[in-house]
Order: sequence, then structure tokens, then C-alpha cells
Amino acid sequence: MDHNLKDLKHKAGFVNIIGNPNVGKSTLMNALVGERLSIITSKAQTTRHRILGIVNGENFQAVFSDTPGIIKPAYELQNAMMKFVHSAVDDADVILYMVESGEKEPKNEDIFNQVSKSQIPVLILINKIDKSNEEVVSHTVESWSKKLPNAKVYAISALNNFGVEEVFTQILEELPYSPAFYPKDSLTDKPERFFVNEVVREKILMHYKKEIPYSVEVQTEAFEELDHIININTNIIVERKTQKGIIIGHQGKALNRVGTEARKDLEKFFQKKIFLDLYVKVDKNWRSSEKKLKGYGYQG
Ligand code: GDP
Ligand code: MG
Repeated sequence: MDHNLKDLKHKAGFVNIIGNPNVGKSTLMNALVGERLSIITSKAQTTRHRILGIVNGENFQAVFSDTPGIIKPAYELQNAMMKFVHSAVDDADVILYMVESGEKEPKNEDIFNQVSKSQIPVLILINKIDKSNEEVVSHTVESWSKKLPNAKVYAISALNNFGVEEVFTQILEELPYSPAFYPKDSLTDKPERFFVNEVVREKILMHYKKEIPYSVEVQTEAFEELDHIININTNIIVERKTQKGIIIGHQGKALNRVGTEARKDLEKFFQKKIFLDLYVKVDKNWRSSEKKLKGYGYQG
């Protein structure tokens, strides 16, 4: 009997963070989840997939997802990315709509309209107030309050953890009563391989220029955890042979750097010694083929 009463008071639901590229969605999710789950860089579109981060309490479970930034699709890959964003609006219990201080107009009208028409509670988060000023912040707050009169508006700095606690409290307020969706001790529903891919991709974004990072897909083929070491085989897939040469670099130096830095991050994350084998493969024009994109998990 006691047990049932407890379930009645339990809250659980899906909290989806959406907003333009680079507004700070991944930073916020990491601040909320308190673990380094999604990669953060200053380049747009680093987050291609939805990533779940789960925060558990005795009486609640909040399941966060971080989405690719809202963009106008220009090629097949971007179309697939936008599908993730649309589904993030559809299946949310709470929507966190994030903008930067100073940003007054939604970039993608379709998604904004979908958000404003939905019956789902929306929190508008005006981020990066640390590098803005009071006047701009209050104007931004005012203009978004007008656009979405039913939403609660918060001025925050995800980077400095300012206002994040208040947002979290409000999220718990808005979550519906429900039993947990995932085991209470789980941090994420993505397999380990996904983290390996994301960490390797982060290093590629950091160390290569122009179109290279956007032409790359990372796929981990083997993840074998032994007592004292994890053996990992990861493929870096590029569109052209010339790109393969650039990734590898003179005497393999560029690729070695990616491998070393990724391994160090992974050792911190998994708290184990890691052997990481990186292999560069050419898959001609993978970004433009719907079938290939499907194979890499972008649709379905
Ligand atoms: P996303 O594309 O929306 O996921 O954005 P990210 O979380 O990857 O952040 C993009 C960039 O903005 C990174 O360089 C972050 O460090 C930076 N950033 C995020 N939040 C803040 C903030 O509150 N203040 C400042 N000054 N920078 C931030
Ligand atoms: Mg992101």
C-alpha cells in the first residue's frame, strides 16, 4: 500500500531542449545533468542526434534530450537532423526553448509555430546573459514574453550555472505524475559506443578546418570491456580520398593527436584504461545519399 502511495506522488517525463545552433543547449543539458554527456564546441551543428540525459530523484525522473540546433535544411543530412527537432517538440512533457540574449526573432518559423501551438508547458530560456547587458536582457525577455504569453521566461547563464537551479525547480513543477520510464540508476539510454563517436567527433571539430568536420561520420565497430582495459575500434568515415589524407595528416600526426586526446577523455569518462584504434575510411558522398544516412542512424 505504501508503495502505491509513493508511486502516485512520483513525477516523470521528457524535457526537450530546442533552439538555434550555438545558443547553449548542450551546455545547459550538461549543467542540468551534471555529467559530460553531450559534446560542446563553438561550432554549430555538433549535436546531430538526440541525446538523453536522465536526472533521478527519490520522487522524480527527468529525461532530457538535447537536439540539433534549428536550421533551415540545405542538404539531406540537415533534413534528417530537423526531423529529430520536430519529434522533440511532439513527444515532450516540457519544452525548453532556448535563445540568446539579444535574439528577438525565431530562425525557423515552422518549429516556433509548432511550439506555440502545442499544449505542452514551455519555458523560454534567455541564455548567455553574462555577456549581455541589463537593457538587452530585459528587452529580450519582454519580446519573448509577448510572443509566447503562456510561457515562463528565465534569464540564465548556462555556462556559469546562473539561474539553472530555478529552471530545474520549475521543470519539476511542470512534470506530470508518472512512474519512472527508465531504471532509476541509469544516466543515459545511449550505448557506450555513442559516447566514443561523439568524443572522436569533438576532436575532429577542434582540429580540422572548413568542410572537413561536416564531411565526417564516426562509427565505433567494437567496444570490448575487459577487467583492466577497454578495447575500442572506431571508423572515421569521409566523403573523398583527399579528405582521408587531411584527416591522417603528415606521417599520421593529425590522426594521432585526435586519437590521443579522445583516449584521454574516454579514460576519464569510463574510469578505465582505453585502447583506441582509429581507422579512416572513404564512403563516397555519404551525406547526400538517403540510404547511407539511414545506415548511419539518421532516420527511421
Ligand atoms: P548548442 O549548439 O546550442 O548545443 O550550444 P553549446 O552548448 O555547444 O554552446 C555553444 C557555445 O556557447 C560554446 O562555446 C559555449 O561555451 C557557449 N555558451 C553556452 N552557454 C553560455 C553562457 O551562458 N554564456 C556564455 N558566455 N557562453 C555560453
Ligand atoms: Mg549542442
